[in-house]
Amino acid sequence: MTIPETPADRKADLTRTATLVREALLHARLHHRDTLPANLQHFPHGAGEPASTLLAWTLRAQDRPAELVTVQTLDSRTGQPFTHTWVHSAPFHLDVTGDQFTPEGRGTRRQPGLTGVYVARLPPPWTQGFLPNATSDAPDDGGLQRAFERITAWLEAIPAPRFQARQKVVDYWQGADVLACGHVRHNPHKTGYQPRARPCHFCEAQAARRTYRATGDTAALDWFATLTDEARGTLIADLHAQRLSSPDEELAPS
Ligand SMILES: [Zn+2]
Repeated sequence: MTIPETPADRKADLTRTATLVREALLHARLHHRDTLPANLQHFPHGAGEPASTLLAWTLRAQDRPAELVTVQTLDSRTGQPFTHTWVHSAPFHLDVTGDQFTPEGRGTRRQPGLTGVYVARLPPPWTQGFLPNATSDAPDDGGLQRAFERITAWLEAIPAPRFQARQKVVDYWQGADVLACGHVRHNPHKTGYQPRARPCHFCEAQAARRTYRATGDTAALDWFATLTDEARGTLIADLHAQRLSSPDEELAPS
């Protein structure tokens, strides 16, 4: 039996995917920018359409609905044409390039500005309340497809959270923590407080025996780490019941 997905679960899952796509694009810009299509080399700036296309493809690969939506209007403050594109996965709007509208001089460590990962039922506020129109995916001469394949490979390689290696935070850039391993992790809650280390879900998985303090059979620990929380709970409850039913075998305190 599958448990039906609640709207909160769905939003959390969409937020996770959008965050990973954003982190993958920032990482690409930081380390191998020349492999990105020209319209993604300044991500998130001017990258609404291609980045949203990559996010939509990623969501569709996960059997999620995903359509691009756009507004084209005049900016009420500057009088200049304003175009922005993001993703609609009903009933949620997802935008991974909204922080490009953070005014000049903002978005620093103390003042995070607009978020780089927006997931909500309402269209993003920086589209000024204009009703979005459906639009087609970005045109692709092969570059977007290659970027998509790279992102997909990254997502598939992400180890389970309990195996993620912790890495020192060495910098803050584009709304993300830059880790000592070179990977970037989105950080929307940036204030004056700087975490010293964060788990990196792009680094190679850490062996379970390094996650737990090994005092005996490390192979058994690795096996234990592969279990789900529910399976571990059942196992521990069984062991506990066994000890209660045969108290003579209780270990003497050391
Ligand atoms: Zn890493």
